[in-house]
Amino acid sequence: MAKPRVAFFEFSDCEGCQLCALDLTPEQLLDLVSVVDIVEFREAMTEKAGALDDHGDGTDSIDVAFIEGSINRESDVARLKRIRERASIVVALGACAHIGGINALKNFQSEEEYRKAAYPTDPYKYESTTAKAIGEFIKVDAVIPGCPIDTGEFLHVVKDLLVGHKPQVPDYPVCVECKLKENGCVYEKGMHCLGPVTRAGCGARCPSNGGYCYGCRGLISKPNIASQQDIMQKYNLNEDEMLSKFKMFLQRSKEVFPDDK
Ligand code: SF4
Ligand code: SF4
Ligand code: SF4
Repeated sequence: MAKPRVAFFEFSDCEGCQLCALDLTPEQLLDLVSVVDIVEFREAMTEKAGALDDHGDGTDSIDVAFIEGSINRESDVARLKRIRERASIVVALGACAHIGGINALKNFQSEEEYRKAAYPTDPYKYESTTAKAIGEFIKVDAVIPGCPIDTGEFLHVVKDLLVGHKPQVPDYPVCVECKLKENGCVYEKGMHCLGPVTRAGCGARCPSNGGYCYGCRGLISKPNIASQQDIMQKYNLNEDEMLSKFKMFLQRSKEVFPDDK
């Protein structure tokens, strides 16, 4: 029986999530390539199977497309749709693809401002639009959240897909994992944390290591934003400071920024 054909694609991002997908032990890597046929993966291999289109992507059908990065150009949209047409299953790989990621910080500026910041000598030389998640343009079948993704979670998703299950990611807050680890809450140390509204699955990585959660895995499906704001106010955060916490990763979240373009 032919192995499932798997491909990796990137748009605007740092490619760190693809690196995490590659961060396997030699045994894990051999196991992976024994069960899937990786046909495109620019970060890891130069060969591509079959004919290529103008963008250098393949044209043959694929079973699973892992797509990393946010959409920042009109031409990205056409390319993204071509990938969707080729793929039976599309997985958003990491926060940039899943929720627009850190790229979407530019959306808080005017087009002129972000163009001048990125290309000061010739601001209109390149295409550049507001940053958006891939799910704003195409159907996404599964997500692997996080900035960056967790390699173990990537492997779980691959295993689920291979046995025909829809991959599930936790839909409860980071606070649950944080409490299970018996961490003291960072609010008591004067920090402000988005753990109460952010999707778990990282093992409360940041609060467990001296930091706070800044929402990189996106919101849970029913976040209580008002309650999160109450907590922040209780700990003396003013409105602007509160918004700045939400801005880093949640710009595309209508629950937080309902009026956004
Ligand atoms: S989610 Fe983070 S690590 Fe992954 S590609 Fe985007 S910026 Fe890089
Ligand atoms: S540190 Fe953050 S994640 Fe942990 S319990 Fe407090 S608010 Fe929740
Ligand atoms: S604690 Fe929050 S910011 Fe840190 S990895 Fe987990 S979801 Fe991302």
